[in-house]
Amino acid sequence: MTLTELVSSLSTNPYFGAGFGLFGIGASAAILRKGLQGALILFRRHLMITLEVPCRDKSYQWLLKWITVRGAKKTQHLSVETSFFQNDNGQVKTSYDFIPSIGKHLFQYKSNWIQVERTREQQTLDLHMGVPWESVTLTAFGNNKQIYCDILEEARQLALQETEGKTLMYTAMGSEWRIFGHPRRRRPTSSVLLDRGISERIISDCNDFIGNSLWYTHRGIPYRRGYLLYGPPGCGKSSFITALAGELEYGICLLNLSERGLTDDRLNHLLNVAPEQSIILLEDIDAAFVSRESTLQQKSAYDGLNRITFSGLLNCLDGVASTEARIVFMTTNYIDRLDPALIRPGRIDVKEYIGYCTQYQLEEMFKKFFGENKNTQAREFSNKICTSGQSVSPAQIQGYFMKHKSSSSELVISNCNSIWETN
Ligand code: ADP
Repeated sequence: MTLTELVSSLSTNPYFGAGFGLFGIGASAAILRKGLQGALILFRRHLMITLEVPCRDKSYQWLLKWITVRGAKKTQHLSVETSFFQNDNGQVKTSYDFIPSIGKHLFQYKSNWIQVERTREQQTLDLHMGVPWESVTLTAFGNNKQIYCDILEEARQLALQETEGKTLMYTAMGSEWRIFGHPRRRRPTSSVLLDRGISERIISDCNDFIGNSLWYTHRGIPYRRGYLLYGPPGCGKSSFITALAGELEYGICLLNLSERGLTDDRLNHLLNVAPEQSIILLEDIDAAFVSRESTLQQKSAYDGLNRITFSGLLNCLDGVASTEARIVFMTTNYIDRLDPALIRPGRIDVKEYIGYCTQYQLEEMFKKFFGENKNTQAREFSNKICTSGQSVSPAQIQGYFMKHKSSSSELVISNCNSIWETN
């Protein structure tokens, strides 16, 4: 059989004809599908613009909030985020914010339709936080990146509005700083009554430091300043630092040096990635090493777990450098327990003793509670306390006044010996 005969017999064969037809349909469908896929890829690549924001990024939380407030208001698929806020009389209230749930949402922004896809990967963990890895992807038509810059900026502004007039506290989580608790209403520095001149001295030193970055740059000196507040407990060290942060419009990064698992490397990293405009606060600095020795003596179950070393701390403090003003505050109740190497100039530039109430403080506190015009009574009260020969902390005085807030000022004076009984 010649080739022509074979072709003609196959073309007249109905079974072969049908098979060939089916094959043709299948092949063209596959080509069409491939073509469509290619076209879709090209369309996405050139005519759509996407932005992925992973949960590790600073703007992730801002963006979710913004999407809820401004964008996807109408979405019916939400997840809840409970937060606390403090109102003007100090009361803490709970509020529930709804944020877009996992999945896809659509919203309109400046006449552009934007698709939001929030995904959560159960298999991948954010190693720092120990929570499933999440991300949000925004997709819009066009190729104008500006739309995303605008969105991110609006989200940042919205987040800033919420913390305006408040002091943010950060705590170390893994190798990152996370906002801890609700933003606190700023406490005026005048509400922490330190002895004459101390408050003004520290505030002006900080302002001077913050405003003189060039002085440090020109001399090649690391742009940081260390402060040590020392003295008995309850005299206002922590309260003053919080108020100072409010005055400077700074946040506070609270670091617990006796925390287990805080290694020299982690400390170094944390100090170098502390949020901008924040004070690093190392409280009870003496306790970090004392407790270390005692746990070693006790041979506790945690023996061998990583802790920071003294030399590690010194290196970390020396290494804290930033283009931003870096302010480190340390507090201790026992300055004599501190190694001189820790508090030498360069590591600690300003030392202030925050002690028991002086006559001046007693009078000012009295007037604050019972009226600015009570000069004579304030003097009588302070004289009585001072002649008793016993020291008293502002916290004790505050407690005593609170207890007698509805009593007459005369009774407060005559009864003042009970301060030591109750405390
Ligand atoms: P410290 O850090 O020195 O142990 P705190 O700042 O924790 O002391 O003070 C404990 C409490 O006493 C706070 O509620 C604070 O308001 C009050 N207090 C302490 N010192 C002062 C002060 N000098 N002026 C006003 N209140 C004070």
